[in-house]
Amino acid sequence: MTDRAFLDWPFFDPSHRTLAGALDAWAAAQVADLHTGNTDQDCRTLVRRLGDGGWLRHAVAGTAFGGASDAIDTRAISLIRDTLARHNGLADFAFAMQGLGSGAISLEGTAEQRAAYLPRVACGDAIAAFALSEPDSGSDVAAMQCRATADGDGYLLDGEKMWISNGGIADFYVVFARTGEAPGSRGISAFIVDADTPGLEIAERIDLIAPHPLARLRFRGCRVPATRRLGPAGSGFKLAMRTLDLFRISVAGAALGFARRALDEALTRATMRPMFGGVLADLQLTQARLADMAMTIDAAALLTYRAAWQRDQGRPVTREAAMAKYMATEGAQRVIDGAVQLFGGLGVVTDVPVERLYREIRALRIYEGASEVQQLIIARDLLRAHAEPRP
Ligand SMILES: Cc1cc2nc3c(=O)[nH]c(=O)nc-3n(C[C@H](O)[C@H](O)[C@H](O)COP(=O)(O)OP(=O)(O)OC[C@H]3O[C@@H](n4cnc5c(N)ncnc54)[C@H](O)[C@@H]3O)c2cc1C
Repeated sequence: MTDRAFLDWPFFDPSHRTLAGALDAWAAAQVADLHTGNTDQDCRTLVRRLGDGGWLRHAVAGTAFGGASDAIDTRAISLIRDTLARHNGLADFAFAMQGLGSGAISLEGTAEQRAAYLPRVACGDAIAAFALSEPDSGSDVAAMQCRATADGDGYLLDGEKMWISNGGIADFYVVFARTGEAPGSRGISAFIVDADTPGLEIAERIDLIAPHPLARLRFRGCRVPATRRLGPAGSGFKLAMRTLDLFRISVAGAALGFARRALDEALTRATMRPMFGGVLADLQLTQARLADMAMTIDAAALLTYRAAWQRDQGRPVTREAAMAKYMATEGAQRVIDGAVQLFGGLGVVTDVPVERLYREIRALRIYEGASEVQQLIIARDLLRAHAEPRP
C-alpha cells in the first residue's frame, strides 16, 4: 500500500488532494491492468479512457477550450503523472504526450487554433505529438536543420524529426523548423501539422526498451498554411523551451510514481520471501536498502512539489525545476535498481513489475533535457546568483 502521507504537505490545496485520491481509485480500476502487447492500440485506448475520465482536461489550458483551468496547474499534472506512473507507465506516457504535444497551442495558439485542437485533445478525440528533436540535434536544439520555406500564403516543410513520441499514431504534430529570420535559435518557428498532410511521412518506427509509439518523421515539400504557424515567425525556439519548462516538473512526478511502485513491490516481496529462518525484511541490510529507497523518494518528492508549488505561484523555477527532474529521475533509477536486487532472480524475469519499471525509468534521464543538461542549468543559475551584487 503506497504511503500517501505526502499529500498532507503544505504545497497542496484541498483540490489537489481530492484529485489525487479520485485518480488513484480510477487508475486502479481503469488502467492498471491494460497491457495487451499492442502498444499503439493500448495507447489509443488509454487516451480515450483518460479523456472519458476527464483527466486530460488538466493537460490543456483554457476552460473555454476544454481545459480544467485557464493555466495548466503544475501540481495537478505532477500529481497525475505520479499516480498514473505508479499504476501503468503507458498511461502516464499517454497523459504526458497529450500535454506536451498540445502545450505550444495552449501557450501561444490563436483563439481559432486553440478551438480547433485543444477540445479534441482534452476529451481524447485527437492524439498530440511534439516534434523538436532531429537526428543531429537533440540536446543542441538550436542546431536543427528541418526548414520551413515561405511559399505564397504558407510554408513548405523539408527535413526530418527524430525520437517523436506518438509518431505513427498522432493526429497532429507541433513541428519546429528553421524559418531563417536570424541565425541559430532566433530563426525557428513552430507549426501545427495534421498527420494526413501530404509530404509528411513516417520514415521509421523505432522500438524502445519500454515500448511506446515512437518514430522518425520525414517532411518533403509538406505544405502548411501560415494560419497554422504558432506565434510570430522566429519565436519557435522560445516557445519550445516554454513548453518544455511547463512539463519538466511533471517528468519528476512520473519518476516518483515509478519509484513509489518499486518501493511497494520491494516491501511486499521482502516481507514474504522466506530466508534464513525468517523473511528477507528481517535482515538489516535489507532494512538499510528500504530506508534509502524511502528517503530518496521523499527527498525527490519534496523537490518536485516545491518546484510545482513555486511555479503555480508564478515565480521563476529554472533552478528548482532542474533540481526536481535531476534528483527524481536519477533517484528513481537507484530505487528501482534496489528493488530488482531485492527480488533476486525474479527481478530480472521479463515483465514482472520491477523489471518493467527498470526499463521504464531509463529514458526519463535522457528526454526533456538529459541529467547533464539539468546539472548545467542548476550550476549556471547558482553562478549567476553568486555574481549578482548583494544588498
Ligand atoms: C523515449 C524518448 C522519447 C522522446 N520523445 C521525444 C518527443 O516526443 N519529441 C522530441 O522532440 N524529442 C523526443 N525525444 C528526444 C529527446 O529529447 C532527446 O533524446 C534528448 O534531447 C537528447 O538528445 P539526443 O538523443 O540527440 O542525445 P545527444 O544530444 O546526442 O546527447 C547525448 C548525451 O550527451 C550528454 N550531454 C548532453 N548535453 C551535455 C552537456 N552540455 N555536457 C555534457 N554532456 C552532455 C547527455 O548524457 C546526453 O544523454 C525523446 C527521446 C527518448 C529517448
